[in-house]
Amino acid sequence: MKNEIVRCVCTDMSVDGHGIARSKDLVVFVKEMIPGETADVKITAEKKNYAYGIIDTLIEASPYRTKSLCPVAYKCGGCDFRHISYEGQLAIKKKLLENTFRGLNVRIEDVVPSPKTDHYRNKVQIPVKDGKAGFYRKYSHDIVEQEHCLLQFEGADEILKDALEIFRERNILDSVRHIFLRKGEGSDEVMLGIIVRKKEIPVWRKTAQEIVRRRPEITTVVLNINTRDDNVILGEEETVLYGPGIIRDIYDGISVEISLKSFYQVNHDQMVQLYAKACSTLNEGESVLDLYSGIGTISLFAARRAREVTGVEIVEDAVRNAKRNAALNHMENVAFFLDDARGDMRKYMQGKDAVILDPPRKGISKELADDLIASGIPKIIYISCNPATLARDLGLLKEFYDFDTVTPFDMFPHTVHVESVVKLTRKGR
Ligand code: SAH
Repeated sequence: MKNEIVRCVCTDMSVDGHGIARSKDLVVFVKEMIPGETADVKITAEKKNYAYGIIDTLIEASPYRTKSLCPVAYKCGGCDFRHISYEGQLAIKKKLLENTFRGLNVRIEDVVPSPKTDHYRNKVQIPVKDGKAGFYRKYSHDIVEQEHCLLQFEGADEILKDALEIFRERNILDSVRHIFLRKGEGSDEVMLGIIVRKKEIPVWRKTAQEIVRRRPEITTVVLNINTRDDNVILGEEETVLYGPGIIRDIYDGISVEISLKSFYQVNHDQMVQLYAKACSTLNEGESVLDLYSGIGTISLFAARRAREVTGVEIVEDAVRNAKRNAALNHMENVAFFLDDARGDMRKYMQGKDAVILDPPRKGISKELADDLIASGIPKIIYISCNPATLARDLGLLKEFYDFDTVTPFDMFPHTVHVESVVKLTRKGR
């Protein structure tokens, strides 16, 4: 069967961006095939109940099919949708959500487009291995070198190129695990993070000075030492090599400071639209709990509308940033706590009118769902970057909460990922 060519019709897309195509009884996951297309597909691997394939000859193309502008598209694993027009990407994401939420009786709204579709990423994390730096090939740890990336912020390519050149000249590229860049779009400040295997501070301090001389747009350089041998990118220990160790950003008139280890939304302009939607149902008199609060960006946004906001977050540096950010903006109706939101959150829920949930991809725990239910929280605003866990968690809450609409935001153009907001209200209220 392998290498055989079969005529297939693509009817759907898988959650990882493959076309789901059929040829008689066979289901084939086809790389870069778009729903609606017919093609002769070459089978590349066969499993018990399905196969994988690539397009050999496209017979009928989707109206959404477009030519990729990226030189390393389909080699590098950064983008999934370079062959699909932006309009098509939004339609496909909506359909993916409809598939995921089937059975929950919710309406999926049109996906809110990203204000920027290229160069929207304010954060770049580049792995370095065997003298090469670039993105991983999809489903692998092979590095695809690239000189120009359409996702990352403008100017990132040049910084990476110079940093690599300097590391090579000084023969220290081997000790680098990752290169990290983050730009505050509202401030133009750039942080360079160098994640290394060994602690060699004097060498890196000199290197940092040379990079900053060549790239004065870098306002701070942080060395992160990671001696572990797993896939976790950042280590515990850090040394500031240059500048204040944080960058600032401004969104919707709010100023924030961000450390290397803190989470920060990657798409600045879409973040503002997302927060506006999430906070649109908060009222003046309400007391709000923001779980998974990061550096406090939603908390501060919400605190302009609500009576008071409490944030809970597990990363120490992020909580430190959040407290400082409250002070920077003279907001006295917010407080932040370092804690694990997976369990024992009832103490924070007492007297709260609304809870905002913005968990990582794995979603919330059963314990947290139980705490929400037991505390009788009247309103929950759930922001999710993973439709699968969102659907699961809504299932945990649906006996006690009503919800009818999912509002998707395209936070990550050209990738299969999609962000969603759902408002839940306590039944019987
Ligand atoms: N609401 C913020 C951050 C969302 S990302 C924003 O919009 O920027 C999710 C956040 O949850 C990250 O800051 C991460 O550090 C934090 N986090 C992950 N696991 C956690 C846990 N068990 N308890 C509390 N916070 C957690």
